[in-house]
Amino acid sequence: MTHNDCIFCQILAGNAPAAWVVDDGPIVAFMDIFPLQPGHVLVIPREHHQYVTELDSYTRGLLMETAARIATAMRVIHPAGTDLNWVINDGKAAWQHVPHVHLHLLPRSGRDNLSLINRMATRFMRKPDMTAFEADAARIRAVLEHS
Ligand code: AMP
Ligand code: ZN
Repeated sequence: MTHNDCIFCQILAGNAPAAWVVDDGPIVAFMDIFPLQPGHVLVIPREHHQYVTELDSYTRGLLMETAARIATAMRVIHPAGTDLNWVINDGKAAWQHVPHVHLHLLPRSGRDNLSLINRMATRFMRKPDMTAFEADAARIRAVLEHS
């Protein structure tokens, strides 16, 4: 069911833009519009649920499998190796800002100095650059198409 006050449901309904990485099937993925790092991807079930425990087990498994395919593609794009934080903020007190299950794939480098806890808790919302996101998404899609 689409929730009108959920931004991810609005994206899925085509009412808000997204730079799509995967746009078919029960699990989809797009670029995070306020990336904590360049190349930050969100993987989400199409169905609206707030908590991971509310997903049926098939969808929950597919979330992980789809994320693994995308993570592999991200590593192809960055042959030096992309270390990733796989993050699920599951509930408001756990820094969940969008109440629709999502798995963050967050590229890391030893030099990025990202303080994940500080940044997850208080987001600095800059104006999103959708053109750059589309270019990032297209690079991952190109690898997925050949995998
Ligand atoms: P969380 O804080 O774990 O709930 O993560 C929600 C994520 O959704 C944040 O990283 C936001 O930057 C991201 N986000 C919010 N609105 C949008 C949007 N319209 N398109 C893409 N990502 C979004
Ligand atoms: Zn939703």
